Amino acid sequence: MIYLDNHATTPIDPRVLDAMLPYFRERFGNAASRSHRFGWEADEAVERARGQVAKLLGADPREIFFTSGASEANNLALKGAAARRRPGTGHIVASPVEHPSVRDTIEHLVAGQGCEVTWLPVDAEGRVRPADVAAAITPRTFLVTAMTANNEIGTVQPVREIGRIAAERKILFHTDATQGVGKIPFDVRADGVHLAALTAHKIYGPKGAGALYVRQGLEIERQTHGGGQERGLRSGTLNVPGIVGLGMACEICRLEREEEARRTAALRDRLRARLGDVRMSGPDRERLPGNLHVSFPDVDAESLMLAVPEVAVSSGSACASGSMEISHVLKAIGMKPDLAKSSVRFGLGRFTTEADVDEAAERFVAAAQRLRKVARR
Ligand code: PLP
Repeated sequence: MIYLDNHATTPIDPRVLDAMLPYFRERFGNAASRSHRFGWEADEAVERARGQVAKLLGADPREIFFTSGASEANNLALKGAAARRRPGTGHIVASPVEHPSVRDTIEHLVAGQGCEVTWLPVDAEGRVRPADVAAAITPRTFLVTAMTANNEIGTVQPVREIGRIAAERKILFHTDATQGVGKIPFDVRADGVHLAALTAHKIYGPKGAGALYVRQGLEIERQTHGGGQERGLRSGTLNVPGIVGLGMACEICRLEREEEARRTAALRDRLRARLGDVRMSGPDRERLPGNLHVSFPDVDAESLMLAVPEVAVSSGSACASGSMEISHVLKAIGMKPDLAKSSVRFGLGRFTTEADVDEAAERFVAAAQRLRKVARR
């Protein structure tokens, strides 16, 4: 099997697993049990990880709050900020290319929490225009959200420009950094971010561990009540091995990101070239290095994927898989349903090799030719 679905999840880096294992075994303590060595060791490991996450983001460790992943972090950020918004405000600026954990949370706030939203259009490559953000802001706006990079077509959003606009207009800027962190340059201060979500399993860490960055001084409302962990913002016994894995994953990304991005982008371009007659969606530049989203004209993507069972890829987005509708991202960029249904997302990553790419390309090209021939009969 060749794994080219690294936007859905990444395999764990052996270095991350090695760092985690002791915290399943002899160092099994609860980080909140401060009365003995087991607890101290766990607590120390959590604080080390907090530092590693903070360093990757350009943040202070006190600004990092551990969660179960990016969905929870997005929920906490948006619901928490909405609950503490200034009286007389309630307007959110967002775009339809966001992940469901952002879109659906906003819909929830609109349905029952007195909020309203402006869904901005995106350009044909899936990019939000900063001028549209500026124009949408009203005196009632308290927050703008724009994902760092898109999980389907790989579009990198103009985060820094949006951050600047948010700062000028004195509103909060939230970014779902899940796909961008560790892959492209991202710095919460330089980018003017107040709230940022990330998750370990997209950066070669374990599933079920993530974090929310909350700018120092910003107060958001807790969404989980209980033992008061994470300085009261997110109660619940900490997932120590998961957090250790997240920290190590961040550390490796910080040290290896640039080199890895160059290598992955080169492999992506090689795959693109070898696929021949396909139509690429999303931008040429300002794109996630490992993302290739292409349509095979006149070929049904589901049939194509069935015809190449040795290669793991996604049609549309894994996050929207299971639904027969065309993805909201492809709809937002104005892609015709026929073309959308023939599109495949290749997600290359740290462990993708040249041989993987060459073999995947060969198999997809051959299968597409076969399917077209059958369709013409
Ligand atoms: N945001 C984006 C852009 C994603 O791609 C994903 C992936 O599933 C998530 C959020 C959700 O992350 P998690 O699986 O950690 O909840």
